[in-house]
Amino acid sequence: MQYLSTRDYGPVSFDQVLADGLAPDGGLYLPIDYPQISPDQQKIFQNKSYIEIAFDIIYPYVSQAYEAQQLKDMLEKAYANFDTAEITPLKKISENCYFLELFHGPTLAFKDVALQLLGLFYEALLKKSDSFKTVLGATSGDTGPAAIEGLKNCDKVRIYMLYPYGRISDIQRKQMTTVAAKNVVPVAVEGSFDDCQNLVKEAFSDANFRKEMHLTAVNSISWARLLPQIVYYFYAQSRLNLQQGQVPHFVVPTGNFGDIFAGFVARYMGLEADFTLAANQNDILSRLVNNNDYSQKEVRASQSPSIDIQVASNFERYLFELNGRDAQQTAQMMHDFKQRGLLELPTDTYEQLQLEVSAAAVSEVETTKTITNIYKKHGYMIDPHTAVAVKAAEKLKLKQMVCLATAHPAKFPKAVAAAINIFPDLPQKQQHILQKEERFVKIAPELTALKELMRQ
Ligand SMILES: *Cc1c(COP(=O)(O)O)cnc(C)c1O
Repeated sequence: MQYLSTRDYGPVSFDQVLADGLAPDGGLYLPIDYPQISPDQQKIFQNKSYIEIAFDIIYPYVSQAYEAQQLKDMLEKAYANFDTAEITPLKKISENCYFLELFHGPTLAFKDVALQLLGLFYEALLKKSDSFKTVLGATSGDTGPAAIEGLKNCDKVRIYMLYPYGRISDIQRKQMTTVAAKNVVPVAVEGSFDDCQNLVKEAFSDANFRKEMHLTAVNSISWARLLPQIVYYFYAQSRLNLQQGQVPHFVVPTGNFGDIFAGFVARYMGLEADFTLAANQNDILSRLVNNNDYSQKEVRASQSPSIDIQVASNFERYLFELNGRDAQQTAQMMHDFKQRGLLELPTDTYEQLQLEVSAAAVSEVETTKTITNIYKKHGYMIDPHTAVAVKAAEKLKLKQMVCLATAHPAKFPKAVAAAINIFPDLPQKQQHILQKEERFVKIAPELTALKELMRQ
């Protein structure tokens, strides 16, 4: 399998995709075509484990980089840290309502599904090239812990994870600062999340520093992060026992458009499914789907911070597919969007999009009420991101739904307690981090301070 960028660079190998993250032309990598999983193969998935299904889905994309057995070993290792053999269990709470629980990994959010495997991909890549990498990232809460957990055992990788001092939850911070690995440096920046992101951008745009440090990013524009997420859509379908002619309807709380796009890739590969995009009060994506209005506004902080976005970085991939894989047109549209902060799709493209996805936006009050209602009715605790999905499905009057439960309720205890008056307990396995000693470095939001730290 070869890869090309949404702005026409390529073809390149999977290893190159992994090493680059973002393509050199500023575009995002996608496979040249999508391997097909036939209905018969999908039927067999009913009798296969999560890891066996993962192998069938992922192998065609990486077979030039790894032997079959090597990938099998990686999958076993990546998912050994999950607290259930089902990896992403499907919970039925009523006749027509399911939750796909994606929070059973070490940091309690769905990002573990991808980042646990990404760490092993990196390890294999660096072994081959006898080189090292410095991962530099900024986190508003969930990506940082998941990236650290995924990469902490790669001895050829050093990780600097920037977070805004005093502005992330205690659990999120402790998941980063209590990791006792010498190659992990949590960096508290005296500023906002935007300050952290700007520092990262500045460091990456300093070509000499980038080269000197062998800098790399692990944000969600990386194809290698999307790839493992395709699996749970097929897995969910195989566990649903739907009647002939029925297709699953996935409802996805969406920020950077990575998770839902992985679902679309599953569909390009032959999965029959419907999709709903759920947004919070930061509704650029639902405005696009419902009104063909993709215009940037100020981000307003919400209870579901992982989907507080202004621009969805993975949207370019979907745009490329909607444009019939026309790289030039895609590049032009992205360029216009950057200039004007605004995008309007041509009528036929917009009509196509409306056939492929529905959307709804959910307010803060609705989020809280939904956490309350689901707990009262079903005794099931959900986190605010999952609540956004449930409410979006209700607004669209879906008859049947599989909501992606992207975080464990204990990761957002304040929002949950505000709704049901109970502080959700951390799972047993996580409780030790509450007592552990914390270790981090604090810096001013200045590039010189960051560079000095990294050169030490
Ligand atoms: C990252 C995240 C999301 C959003 O996923 P995208 O791929 O950015 O759309 C949703 N929920 C939680 C809990 C997350 O951490």
